[in-house]
Amino acid sequence: MKAFTYERPATIAQAASLASERPNARFIAGGTNLLDLMKLQVETPATLIDVNRLPLAGIEDTPEGGLRVGALVRNADLAAHPRVRRDYAVLAKALLAGASGQLRNKATTAGNLLQRTRCFYFYDTTKPCNKREPGSGCAAIGGFNRIHAVLGASESCIATNPSDMNVALRALDATVETVAADGATRAIPIAEFHRLPGDTPEVETSLRPGELITAVTLPRPVPGTHIYRKVRDRASYAFALVSVAAVIGRDGDRVGSARLAFGGLAHKPWRVETAEQALVSTGRAEAAAEAVLAGARGRGANDFKIPLTRRTLRAVVADATRA
Ligand code: SF4
Repeated sequence: MKAFTYERPATIAQAASLASERPNARFIAGGTNLLDLMKLQVETPATLIDVNRLPLAGIEDTPEGGLRVGALVRNADLAAHPRVRRDYAVLAKALLAGASGQLRNKATTAGNLLQRTRCFYFYDTTKPCNKREPGSGCAAIGGFNRIHAVLGASESCIATNPSDMNVALRALDATVETVAADGATRAIPIAEFHRLPGDTPEVETSLRPGELITAVTLPRPVPGTHIYRKVRDRASYAFALVSVAAVIGRDGDRVGSARLAFGGLAHKPWRVETAEQALVSTGRAEAAAEAVLAGARGRGANDFKIPLTRRTLRAVVADATRA
């Protein structure tokens, strides 16, 4: 690991100001991803800004009937929160499907939003990777790409977003709140928070340099059956090959409403609103899957994700509509 300067600010303003003043600074909270990346020298920050003492660990109701989750709320605490379990069960289920109990006790809401891809070549500094070293190439294209993207990829990068939580937040239309060094705040819809790789796969979110995540806000809960189905190589402590976060409402025997977001398929949580409309209008998972998978392209070893997505969605809809 390379030497770095360690700072532990006492206020949000100090943290944001340090991040804007110091070149190559990174915020750290749980450190469950960043420390691994530093040990491998995939990330080599000059300054670590420890935000653990900032007052961002609360969960509170919003006046609109939603929930505001502080950036430092641990994944385990968020999954166990009574309102999350009652009103946002898809989020609780997604969180519990992620990592291990020990990691969930450390990992934070903001850190989970920012966790980086698990592409093998990204972590292997002997291999070309445009995300780690822009312009060096992509070892996964033409390499072992079983876990890689089939949607929204580019010729620069075919990595996926590894998070389960982010998929549920996309289905729930969450908003990410931030603050900058000048005190300016932003509320970024989750749909605009994560980026597709394009020609700049090293830029993964719409955060501006030095901007600090302060909270994630969930809108009023939507009625329906909340499901998170994650398909992976082993039953626990593995990343999704394909996952579906769904909130499906019934209208008698029919599907009355649907929210569907997918993980394991792209560089960002994947949601296609026309797929939801197709499910409501036809009641058929296959019709929704066609809309979700429009433009899907396998790279050889990951071709199986396309039929797996169809089957996983079919199982989710069957679960939601079972009498
Ligand atoms: Fe790097 Fe992306 Fe290619 Fe993986 S898929 S090697 S992260 S450029």
